[in-house]
This record gives sequence, structure tokens and C-alpha cells, in this order.
Amino acid sequence: ATGIAHLRFANSFASLPAAFYTRLAPTPLPAPYLVAASEQAAQLIGLAPPACASEDFIQTFSGNRAAADSQSLAAVYSGHQFGVWAGQLGDGRAILLGDVAASDGGRLELQLKGSGATPYSRMGDGRAVLRSSIREYLCSEAMAALGIPTSRALSVIGSDQLAMRERPETTAVVTRMAPSFVRFGSFEHWYYNNRREELKTLADHVIAGFYPELQAASNPYHALLAEVTRRTAQLMAQWQAVGFMHGVMNTDNMSILGLTLDYGPFGFMEAYDPGHICNHTDQQGRYAYARQPQIGHWNCFALGQALLPLIGSVEETEAALGNYQAIYGAKLDELLHAKLGLASRQPDDDKLLDAMFALMQGSHVDFTLFFRRLGNLRLDGSGGDEALRDLFIDRAAFDAWALQYRARLKLENSQDRSRKLAMDASNPKYVLRNYLAQTAIERAQEKDFSEVRKLQQILENPFDEQPQHARYAELPPDWARGLEVSCSS
Ligand code: AMP
Ligand code: MG
Ligand code: MG
Repeated sequence: ATGIAHLRFANSFASLPAAFYTRLAPTPLPAPYLVAASEQAAQLIGLAPPACASEDFIQTFSGNRAAADSQSLAAVYSGHQFGVWAGQLGDGRAILLGDVAASDGGRLELQLKGSGATPYSRMGDGRAVLRSSIREYLCSEAMAALGIPTSRALSVIGSDQLAMRERPETTAVVTRMAPSFVRFGSFEHWYYNNRREELKTLADHVIAGFYPELQAASNPYHALLAEVTRRTAQLMAQWQAVGFMHGVMNTDNMSILGLTLDYGPFGFMEAYDPGHICNHTDQQGRYAYARQPQIGHWNCFALGQALLPLIGSVEETEAALGNYQAIYGAKLDELLHAKLGLASRQPDDDKLLDAMFALMQGSHVDFTLFFRRLGNLRLDGSGGDEALRDLFIDRAAFDAWALQYRARLKLENSQDRSRKLAMDASNPKYVLRNYLAQTAIERAQEKDFSEVRKLQQILENPFDEQPQHARYAELPPDWARGLEVSCSS
């Protein structure tokens, strides 16, 4: 691992025709300071921890000093927002610095978010506030630690410069990393502009760079849609299984690599309610928890529509999309069985699961605590379930369910110790609850960044007990009930 002077930037996206982007430099961020940097993200591009505290690092990732060889740019894309065609959007406040060598042998693109206005900013100011930057940073790294595909966050660099939201707030720049930031909306952009040539150029760029194995397929565009559909279906199952709600599943926020992308008004399920809406702005509940899987499918259809001219036939396009439900269902089934510590499949498992979710909903049971505590249950009924039982209002109903669950476990000769170990590796103890993020944000707004850093480190090991940090696994306090997150960022 080395310092940032050794990062060698190339920019494969910049090799696309000029219509795909606008070349421009970030707008300088006045008097920048380091809020936090992720050592694990830094390692992915060969940066040692000391490099992340250096003045070089702060200057580069605030956008104040051009990285050597960087051909920075803002990309154009379009998209469907809340189900409605929105036309041209694009990197309104993100600037791609380029791509660098990753320690796994691949390459990672580095993008500054909040680094000033671009030709795609529309009414926006090109900035991001510290609040939303900390949320994106913490959640990107937390999702990676949960094993869920996601863009990564290298750092948050703050400034006292203000941006106007509901009130004036200080601004920040997040550096995020992914092999590519191409979105479903990048394809829709060319499709709706009737630019078949550019559509093909983009598809070929994505396939050659990120899906090279598909080049050999008889119809690589069909294969691309099928593979993105598969990844999206699996991602949705992973979100559901951990109670993650994205909040703004517009097609411009859907990664062509199947990564979780664009963290805004996201949330983790606390009191279980399938209809929960985490984004205060989403009044219709289009992106409510229980709707995410079908919205994921809808978004794949939007991508399929855009790829139709390349795929060639409606039949083939539909065939590529048609596997979504089965892939989603199989992945969710696998993840839920793991969450319950079930090693086999039995005919009545769905009934057991449905009854469990109904009980959780009826008692407003905390999603994360429930699954984590479920692992402590003992088969001989000798205890372990007191804290679990305490989560339920209707204890008798829980006891009845627990009897069925124990019987089901006995059916496969489940062992308490090994089951708990396996369940603890599937059911995180620590997730980024909104109140935890909010507490860290409020401290950071007072220039104390220790809570952001501490929280990020706890969330790096979400499945570990970390008894010294047990209060970070607790139910949200009363003051957090009225906490609302919106699209304002
Ligand atoms: P989002 O809903 O966060 O995915 O953003 C939708 C579009 O608005 C994207 O094209 C963003 O780049 C753009 N955008 C959001 N906030 C700003 C801002 N403060 N300044 C400029 N563009 C923005
Ligand atoms: Mg977006
Ligand atoms: Mg956003």
C-alpha cells in the first residue's frame, strides 16, 4: 500500500464519444478537512491508512487538486423517476476522476459527489450537504460489510461552505468507488433519444469492460439483460433479507452492475411493517419495503425496453426478464432459511415464515433484533429465548410459533451451538439505524467526527458480538420516532 501520489488514473469512460459526457474539473471546496476515510475502501485501491490523513488526500478528494492523469468528467443519463419518464438527468453533482488499479486485479472508478455544478445540474447547486454525505459514506461501507453488492465510499471531506436546503447546511464531498457508475438510465437516455448507435456503443463498452464473458454469447445484449436481471433480482433478495430500504429506486439509481447505488433517504427496517416507507417524500409508497422486489423487476423492464433495439425481438427481451421472479424467490428462500438456521427445505416452511412475519408485524417487532435473538433459542426449551420473547406483545402467540419452529428444527436434527454460529453469520447484530446515523451527523455538524468514525468501524463487523458496543445494537430511543428522511440532500 502506498500514498496517493502513486495512484495512476486512466479513464475508460472518457474513451466513449463526446456525447456521453462533459469534460470538466471539480469546483474547489473552500478550506476542506477530513471528516472520515474508510481504511478498507482505501485498501481496495492500495492506499495505506496514513495516506488517507495526508494533505494530498484531502486536496485530491475535495476536488481541489487535479489528480495526475485524471480526465475528469460528468456523465449524461436519463431515467424514470417514481414511475414517470423524467428525460435527461445526468451527473448533476458527481464528477468521475477516472479509474485506478484495484488490489483484486480489476479497476475501480473514483467519483467525487458534491463537487460542484455540471451541465446536468438542472436546478441543483452541485453540492451535497454533510448530513447526506455521512449517510452515504456510512451506509456504503456498512452494506459492503454485510456482503451486499454496493458502490464503496472512500472518504468524506467537509467544508464550512454552506448550501441551502430546508435550512443552510455545511457541504461535503464523498469519494465513491465502483467498477462502473453506468445506470439503467444511461441506456434509457440513448433509447428515448432514438440514438441506436450510441446505445450500441454503451452496451459494447459495458459488456467489454464488465461482462467480458458475455461477448461469446449468441446474442450478447440478450445475455447482458439476462445477467443484469439476475443480479438485480438477487440484490433485491439481499435487501429484503437485511431489511434495507433504498427509498428512491428510480431507474437512474439502478446500477448496471447490480450494485446498491445512490444512498439517499434509505433506511433499515426497525418495527416490522411490510408497508413501511422510509422516504418521507415518497407519499404514495411506491418504494415501500414490500414493493422493492416488484420495483426491481419493473426497472429491469425499463432496461429491457431500452435494450430492445439491440436484442432484436420482444420475445427474447421478455425471456431475459422472465427469470426475475424465480431468481428472486430462490435467493430470498435461501437467505430466509439461513436467517432461521434451517439447513433443509420442508414443504411447510412457507407457512412457518408467513406466521413469523405476521407475528412480527402484529407486535411491531424490531427486524434486526428479532433475527439476532432467534439464534439464542434452545431446542430443549431450557431458555435462551427470554429476550426474544420480550419483543412480542402477544407472548402466547409467540410461544405457539416457537413450538412449531423448535419442532421444525428437530426435524433436521439441528444442534443449538452450530445453528447459533451459522445464524449469527447471517443475522447482523449491527445495522445503520437512522438514529445512529443522526447522532453521528449532529456531532459532526459540531466538528466532532469521532462518532462517524466509531460507527463506521462498528459497522465493519456487523456480525460480531462486539460486547463493548452493545448499545449500538439497541432499539431506537423515543426521540428517534419522529425522525424523517427525505430526498433533500
Ligand atoms: P437523485 O434522486 O439523488 O438520484 O438525483 C436525481 C438527479 O438530480 C441526478 O441527476 C442528480 O445528479 C441530480 N441532483 C441531485 N441533487 C443535486 C444537486 N444538489 N445539484 C445538482 N444536481 C443534483
Ligand atoms: Mg441518483
Ligand atoms: Mg442521490
